[in-house]
Amino acid sequence: MHSKEEARTPASATYDVAFLERVGAVEGTGTFRFAKPTGYTFVPGQFLSLTLATRDGEQTKPFTHDEAPGDPYIEITTRLSGSAFKDALLALGSGDVVRVNGPRGRMTLPQDVRKAAFLVGGVGITPARAIIRDAVQRGSGLQVALFYGNQNESSIPFRDEFDGYGTAHAEIHVVHVLADPGTAWKGERGFITAATVRRHVDPLDGWHWVVTGPPAMIAAMGSVLEELAVPGDRISTESFAGYK
Ligand SMILES: Cc1cc2nc3c(=O)[nH]c(=O)nc-3n(C[C@H](O)[C@H](O)[C@H](O)COP(=O)(O)OP(=O)(O)OC[C@H]3O[C@@H](n4cnc5c(N)ncnc54)[C@H](O)[C@@H]3O)c2cc1C
Repeated sequence: MHSKEEARTPASATYDVAFLERVGAVEGTGTFRFAKPTGYTFVPGQFLSLTLATRDGEQTKPFTHDEAPGDPYIEITTRLSGSAFKDALLALGSGDVVRVNGPRGRMTLPQDVRKAAFLVGGVGITPARAIIRDAVQRGSGLQVALFYGNQNESSIPFRDEFDGYGTAHAEIHVVHVLADPGTAWKGERGFITAATVRRHVDPLDGWHWVVTGPPAMIAAMGSVLEELAVPGDRISTESFAGYK
């Protein structure tokens, strides 16, 4: 990321924070809220490290802030894999104290970007959610094209929120791409391809492209952007290392 972007990312620190609650999420994923330390801030796209006591001992893993800086809590969304870490997350009760180190990372939108296009799937939505939610809260007018891959209609994290943005904001265009939708589904099917993108936007018309998620998604979307001939300086990427 550019050096002026580095300058605007706040310094990281370690905090003991209280778990607040698990909030609505689709099957197989969970969204978890924590108390926000006084003065804590981050740039949308950044992540934090969460340390939990698990059945296999203390473990620390990175998770992207899915909330906007304007929200009064810290929030993460993750796939519930049955790992020791995820089970420890699920076992948290209101008021339990966990350790957070953040904010971290440089996967933020360059400040001059006015048109952001996202190629994401499943829990890879978290940086996009933070960036788009922040743009809506601040009324920044950021033009958004969100290409959002999921399995079916009932497995789309934050579906109602994004569909609401798409309806209420002319500058936000949400394209659901479902691998295995019901027969009634009228939207895009399969995986996100270069052809999917071209049906909705001209990829070289001033867009800055953001690709985030598990390594396999990054590799697949990298090939899509190559096929679309998007130059490397118009692409920001963050791989959720730790997923296969
Ligand atoms: C910058 C960043 C941001 C992230 N943001 C999110 C987020 O918003 N939401 C989210 O759900 N996840 C996010 N992750 C991934 C997250 O940190 C966990 O790795 C992921 O959720 C899997 O955890 P688990 O306990 O379910 O996996 P496990 O069951 O422990 O592991 C899943 C599989 O990956 C393998 N594996 C574990 N660690 C590694 C490693 N370091 N390298 C390669 N393979 C490994 C394991 O062997 C296993 O097969 C992010 C990762 C990074 C680096």
